[in-house]
Amino acid sequence: MIFRQLFDPQSSTYTYLLADSATREAVLIDPVFEHARRDAALIEELGLKLLCTLDTHVHADHVTGAWLLKRKLGSKIALSRDSGAVGGDRTLVDGDRVAFGRRSLEARATPGHTNGCMTYVLDDRSMAFTGDALLIRGCGRTDFQQGDARRLFHSVRDKVFSLPDDCLIYPCHDYHGLTASSVGEEKRYNPRLAETIGEGDFAGYMAHLGLPHPKLMEVAVPANLRCGRPEREATTGDEPDWAPLCCTFAGIWELQPNWLEENLGRVQIVDVREPEEFTGALGHIAGAKLVPLGSLSQRFSEIKKDKPVVMVCRSGARSAQATVLLRNAGFSKVANLSGGMLRWRGQRFPVEGGKD
Ligand code: FE
Repeated sequence: MIFRQLFDPQSSTYTYLLADSATREAVLIDPVFEHARRDAALIEELGLKLLCTLDTHVHADHVTGAWLLKRKLGSKIALSRDSGAVGGDRTLVDGDRVAFGRRSLEARATPGHTNGCMTYVLDDRSMAFTGDALLIRGCGRTDFQQGDARRLFHSVRDKVFSLPDDCLIYPCHDYHGLTASSVGEEKRYNPRLAETIGEGDFAGYMAHLGLPHPKLMEVAVPANLRCGRPEREATTGDEPDWAPLCCTFAGIWELQPNWLEENLGRVQIVDVREPEEFTGALGHIAGAKLVPLGSLSQRFSEIKKDKPVVMVCRSGARSAQATVLLRNAGFSKVANLSGGMLRWRGQRFPVEGGKD
């Protein structure tokens, strides 16, 4: 079997690619919208055919890549019937099998984090993809969507801890750099769900986590209930080829700081911050032209249409809006610098002016 674990640093989400090495048929668990291009490229380079994407649940912290991959690769969308999502091709219930070549995954309903949480167990019980039901030394929260701590307790105990001790656990997220665990390890060392902990203790623990709601929840949950289909589809139309751009769910083409640093001479950089920010502590990128967002519409003529434009601001939010204005004004090669000057400085790329 071919197996790859992929990562999204923004939401700390793991995506898993599994394929039968003989038939080349593959499935992808929990793809992330912004990485559909990366995932499709890997699938192509490995010579695989993506049969379907599987989501472990309706995520609140990132948008699924299911719809986008279906459009790119023709894969089917599968997830739990109890998820409430529309637009899928196959709805799964407890005990269903999803085959890829000679291999298959068994869907085990593990509700509690949400109603529609599924754990996918490999046919030989050597791997389980637990979504947010069971994380490494943790578990998904139960204080929103259809969270229910007692339900989650029984899901993990009955459906996951009943697997062999050496079955590897691959979760949907990890925030500490851990990549896998095992059933035996979690039975012993999970601080919430270890075998020595009772249902009442667990429910009490989960009632007092006191976590803020995820930043992307208002966007991610409705989008995932549509299997990741954007409301405005046109925005993900033509694929630009002048740089390795990534389209965000909001329909903004973004590029990464490392590409820009290596290709400064090939683009025009337009910094849309205010003058005092441009000369302030963060500094600015060499060669950047200062055009504050408020005056951009009056100054389109100062920007060349035949050379790619990269828009920059402090965090990447104002410059995202600036890319929309420029596109509407007829500029075709426009991208936003992902993370703005904050990420540029965070990655220690050079600036003019500025202070440490
Ligand atoms: Fe979740």
